[in-house]
Amino acid sequence: MSQHTPVVVIVGGGFGGLSTARALKKAQVKVILIDRNNHHLFQPLLYQVATSVLAPGQIGSPIRGILRKSENTTVILGDVTGIDTAARCVLVNSADRIGVKISYDYLILATGVQHSYFGHDEFEKYAPGLKSLADAVAIRNKILRAFEQAEAEEDPSHHKELLTFVLVGAGPTGVEMASAIAVMVRSTLKHEFRRIDPASARIVLVDMATRPLGTFAPELSDAAQRRLTELGIEVRLGHGVDSIDDEGVVVAGDRIVSKTVIWTAGVAPSPAGKWLNAETDRAGRVRVRSDLTVQDHPEIFVVGDTASLDQDGKPLPGVAQVAMQQGRYASSLIRCRLEGKPCPSPFRYFDKGNLAVVGKGFAILQSGKVRLSGLLAWLVWAAVHLQFLAQSSLRVSVFVQWVWTYVTGQRGSRLIVKHHCD
Ligand SMILES: Cc1cc2nc3c(=O)[nH]c(=O)nc-3n(C[C@H](O)[C@H](O)[C@H](O)COP(=O)(O)OP(=O)(O)OC[C@H]3O[C@@H](n4cnc5c(N)ncnc54)[C@H](O)[C@@H]3O)c2cc1C
Repeated sequence: MSQHTPVVVIVGGGFGGLSTARALKKAQVKVILIDRNNHHLFQPLLYQVATSVLAPGQIGSPIRGILRKSENTTVILGDVTGIDTAARCVLVNSADRIGVKISYDYLILATGVQHSYFGHDEFEKYAPGLKSLADAVAIRNKILRAFEQAEAEEDPSHHKELLTFVLVGAGPTGVEMASAIAVMVRSTLKHEFRRIDPASARIVLVDMATRPLGTFAPELSDAAQRRLTELGIEVRLGHGVDSIDDEGVVVAGDRIVSKTVIWTAGVAPSPAGKWLNAETDRAGRVRVRSDLTVQDHPEIFVVGDTASLDQDGKPLPGVAQVAMQQGRYASSLIRCRLEGKPCPSPFRYFDKGNLAVVGKGFAILQSGKVRLSGLLAWLVWAAVHLQFLAQSSLRVSVFVQWVWTYVTGQRGSRLIVKHHCD
């Protein structure tokens, strides 16, 4: 009689799902990784695709390719729509097949987050968010098209709305996007237009918080804010947006006319909590126990941005390191259980530090008691991001592109592409 090999189903091939699958490479299990996209995406560099520094293929890799040496792993392109916890199976829509059941012995949910417009879904039409490669290409199109339209527009009174860029949200993505646009208009685009001066573009960063990059220490936020101002970015803090429409945004009763508004403010969790009918936190993330399993379901783990876990009285942040460490922890727990070994101690996040880049050659870094801003922090930022790209070919290609852009000011991918996500 053949022995049943345990099946571990992983939903999501992002940072959490991929690190789980990699850590199970040599385990005596069958792994089935399901993702609605065929690629793993390095989200921290999405803003560089949106601002034309990198091409989409430089920050995304086929999941199948990354896991080609994991012989126990099958990759399925499909959209998970629900979970039958009693029957222990996930329901998947793939191509023309609806509601296909895939059974599991262990389930890892690593489905990340989506945009949240804080109850104002009507903003989405005018202010796209940045979460996927398709979003990044759409934003790139929007930014580049604004300059093209302004150059073609003979009436200078219309230039103002076309050359004003508003970023809603002064977290890392908003700050990185705003500063990347500022560098682009003052270097890359400088000599290419005849009727307009790209450097005259107005870039506005809006947030209801009182300082940008609020998760960093105040002195680092201040350093970032000074840098943003040096780059010519208007930083408007202390007020959220009242409304967004096709003419721009209204902030504290003041209308800012703009044809390009970008939303970088909020995220909402995936529907995993609903699928499991499990307890969630106020943000909708699934509350997990200290071993990352769901209450009453020791066979179901939730990791990464979809999970909610407090450490030392504070919720863990939605960052790549948390997702990767949780993925590795979940896989080690599964292995211990299968091998009859004692379970590891509860999950504990080891915070290696936070980084955010503010334009060319400047970043802020906070790691334990270390606080750094400027070129050195930027070099650390560059090294860390290169290290965590999924494949060595991407590391080489991104490194070469960065050196080229740094030295010449030229960007790698300034294409307006109409049908980008077929
Ligand atoms: C623009 C941006 C910039 C960021 N910058 C940084 C940074 O500088 N540093 C940092 O540490 N973190 C950063 N983050 C956060 C970081 O990317 C996340 O914390 C991390 O990706 C979380 O990993 P995850 O595995 O939980 O989810 P993800 O990496 O988002 O992966 C989720 C996966 O699940 C798949 N999926 C979702 N729903 C389904 C479904 N129903 N069926 C099948 N598949 C599904 C998705 O396609 C995706 O591949 C950034 C995020 C964004 C959006």
